Amino acid sequence: MADRYLSFTATAPGRFLTRRLGLPQPAALRRWSPEHPSLTGSLLHLTAGTSALDLAPVLARTGLPLDDSSDPAAVVLDATGVRDVDGLAEVHAALHPVVRSVAASGRVVVLGSPLDAGAATDDGHHRDHHRAAVQQALEGFVRSLGKEIGRGRTVNLVRLTDASAAESTLRFLLSPRSAYVSGQVIGVGAQGSAGSVDRALPLAGRTALVTGGARGIGEAVAETLARDGAHVVVLDIPQAQADARRVAERLGGTALALDITAADAGERIAAELPDGLDVLIHNAGITRDRRLVNMPAERWSPVLDVNLASVLRTTDALLAKGALRTGGRIVATASIAGLAGNAGQTNYGASKAGIAGLVRALAPRALAEHGVTVNAVAPGFIETKMTAAVPLFIREAGRRMNSLAQGGLPVDVAETTAWLAHPASGAVNGQVVRVCGQSLLGA
Ligand code: NAD
Repeated sequence: MADRYLSFTATAPGRFLTRRLGLPQPAALRRWSPEHPSLTGSLLHLTAGTSALDLAPVLARTGLPLDDSSDPAAVVLDATGVRDVDGLAEVHAALHPVVRSVAASGRVVVLGSPLDAGAATDDGHHRDHHRAAVQQALEGFVRSLGKEIGRGRTVNLVRLTDASAAESTLRFLLSPRSAYVSGQVIGVGAQGSAGSVDRALPLAGRTALVTGGARGIGEAVAETLARDGAHVVVLDIPQAQADARRVAERLGGTALALDITAADAGERIAAELPDGLDVLIHNAGITRDRRLVNMPAERWSPVLDVNLASVLRTTDALLAKGALRTGGRIVATASIAGLAGNAGQTNYGASKAGIAGLVRALAPRALAEHGVTVNAVAPGFIETKMTAAVPLFIREAGRRMNSLAQGGLPVDVAETTAWLAHPASGAVNGQVVRVCGQSLLGA
């Protein structure tokens, strides 16, 4: 279902009328295309406090010219050295004069320190609560700026200690690929980078399996991973095989007819891929909405089974079999309905919050024992068949109730997934990244 309001506000009379009425002003977002692979304009590098990061070489490799004279397409503010409220004043002083000049669909990325870093003071007993307070303050700052900045511009916070380990993350956030990711706090560990990676085809020679890949978000994920060079296995239920085969053929991949809730789904995937796989995308998901008072067990169970139990089961089976190769990536699909809650979705919300719990608990162990990262994407309102079926009024509210005042596209979730699946993203682990245009639902 096309977003007619967005088309209308892109016209002169539409803009005039909706401004006069104080209605939302969505900007047409600039997304990645082969013709426009990067932001157009310069990158402004600012610092608040005294930073120990070696950021300049990493920023130089983004391909954006470093320049502080013209209107920047992106601003990176290094606030990792902010330790007290005076340091926060430097955050204000750095961004206050430039925020107006950031180009439409531009990026503001604030860098902070991990909240537990340097937590102990010299006597080793007390947390440095001043530093903790102002580093946490950066979240409120970023989320507030995200809500007011407008014009398709995004604002995100990255917590890091090592600039080179965060290179893939900065490249993603400082590109058109992150068009619908705003108001997020992303933690990046200190693990070194992946060595040399083919920039154009980072997933060349790798195998990626996408559950529910026959349509919607899964189809876009399959397409994007194939664009990045992966051999893609499009898994979907037997009833969706015509679509799964069509997608696989178009991408030079393989279709796999399998209901992911089958008790032996993990074993069947492993048997299908005797050489193992590198990227496992748990995307298949269903809804069976009803308020809890009206929800029989027959509507509860399938949602928990597809969205959560099968993810747990197949992940366990594939890890136990060593089917995920070292350097592997698991990306599961949560939802803002799971993070914020949604009336009529106790089953779905439970299943998707469960994904966040799974990711946070499994991530450190999977990395230590298998060299595999585990993260989740949490889509907000994405324009798919699932959301086209939502009644008009609720659909329109869902579209507008975010900082970018529009729904996201399947490709926005796919690009976020591709960043998490990237060989250079080994330091991104245990994260739940919302792709929601900074939805008003949830934090
Ligand atoms: P969709 O209904 O368009 O596609 C889901 C796909 O999963 C279908 O091809 C379906 O056949 C497949 N599938 C369902 N059950 C399966 C099973 N048991 N085994 C194998 N495949 C199965 O949905 P979508 O909108 O593309 O959503 C994809 C994922 O994103 C889901 O996990 C969904 O919960 C999540 N999500 C979507 C939105 C949104 O706005 N569309 C928002 C938040 C989260």
